[in-house]
Amino acid sequence: MTLPASPAHLEGQIRQARPTLWFNPDLSRQAPTSSTAHDPTRLDLSDTLAAAARLGRFAGLLADLFPELRASTGAIESDLVATPRLQAALGLSREHGELWVKTDHSLPVAGSIKARGGFHEVLQHAEALALQAGLVDIGSDYRVLGHGAARALFAQHQVAVGSTGNLGMSIGVMASALGFKAVVHMSADAKAWKRDRLRQRGVEVVEHLGDYEKAVAAGRAQAAGNPLCHFVDDERSESLLLGYSAAALPLQAQLREQGRVVDAEHPLFVYLPCGVGGAPAGIAFGLRERLGPHVHCFFAEPVQSPCFLLQMVAPSGKHPSVYELGLSNQTEADGLAVPRASLLAAALMRQRLSGVFTVTDDTLFEHLVLALDHADLRIEPSAAAGFSGPGRLLGSTAGQAWLAQQGLLEHLPNSTHIVWTTGGLLLPEMDYSRCVQRGRLGLGQGQLQAGRSVRATQPA
Ligand SMILES: *Cc1c(COP(=O)(O)O)cnc(C)c1O
Repeated sequence: MTLPASPAHLEGQIRQARPTLWFNPDLSRQAPTSSTAHDPTRLDLSDTLAAAARLGRFAGLLADLFPELRASTGAIESDLVATPRLQAALGLSREHGELWVKTDHSLPVAGSIKARGGFHEVLQHAEALALQAGLVDIGSDYRVLGHGAARALFAQHQVAVGSTGNLGMSIGVMASALGFKAVVHMSADAKAWKRDRLRQRGVEVVEHLGDYEKAVAAGRAQAAGNPLCHFVDDERSESLLLGYSAAALPLQAQLREQGRVVDAEHPLFVYLPCGVGGAPAGIAFGLRERLGPHVHCFFAEPVQSPCFLLQMVAPSGKHPSVYELGLSNQTEADGLAVPRASLLAAALMRQRLSGVFTVTDDTLFEHLVLALDHADLRIEPSAAAGFSGPGRLLGSTAGQAWLAQQGLLEHLPNSTHIVWTTGGLLLPEMDYSRCVQRGRLGLGQGQLQAGRSVRATQPA
């Protein structure tokens, strides 16, 4: 296949699985862009606000269902943290702006960014059923949905999903906590501990040979035959995407609290790990709608699974998979191992995304270690993908040229760079220390500091 929308050397780089940096020629400088005719999705800020309001309506119930949410009275949020030492370790000077991390790897209950979208979709489904049955009104106390008639109602219904792991985890945990029958279709590359953990929670796990796409297709087909089954469709769901987009509101508040301004003189750069595209597109959508065109979102993909990049440069009407370019879709970043992008996410990003870059697995492990050593962040490989972004943008000729063309160069000292870390909380210690070991080898610190992971993984 050929990619006429892009220089030939880009296709060569993608095929050879070399780290690539691409800028979106269709990026719009207008804010917001939801009213333009180019966006076929017709989603706008009101949809994001509705998702946020829904999560708010359920907060009381969630605090009842999950003890770990009592302290936050049911809010599922992560901190925005300044990371000056990590910034230095990544070779970024203060003249480049400030490096911050949005720590979704620590989101409670689900342990990944999937808590945002996945929980929202299950709750939206539960709310629709409960409203229909007259068990609640919008605005009444949803804690009644934790008992009696509501539980009996949910028990008649099934929620199903196809997943490499983290989405299954979030859907499975929330659906079973509400009393739904939960079925998770998993691909062969899903990690065993994720499977086991779900089964312990009473979730039915169906294993499929083949990749993520096969698991989703199998789940979708099985669910289509059951009218009492709601299938969470990672490749097509607006509810998932809007759940992710609601992250823009608390992030805006956190930026304000920290005195980080976002405007023409103070650009914000956000680096988001991308699988099928729903999570990063939802967040980028929310941020652009809420904060405007001075937010620049970049997606990060493994060099073997650059499905979103492929979709963005593909001729219109095409829906390519990474296999068509001779890539393997094999990566230790299991949350990002997706061969074909979500068309919904791609449509939404057509004018809102600034660019995409790709990362080798070796780099993921090295950045996983730097995040541990210099910011005490315990993340999984997928969640490390964003850390290459600032260096790639600021330290390459192509990046400098793009920044100049966008009029951003002179504002870099005032800029904020947010790397979004997307998973890791539930990663078992054994798996995590293997990741750390591999990263240390890559950094050339093999034996030297072998004991350090133990120290830094103790709770602070
Ligand atoms: C799912 C996932 C992503 C990306 O989300 P998509 O919606 O698939 O693009 C990123 N990081 C982690 C850890 C994930 O589990």
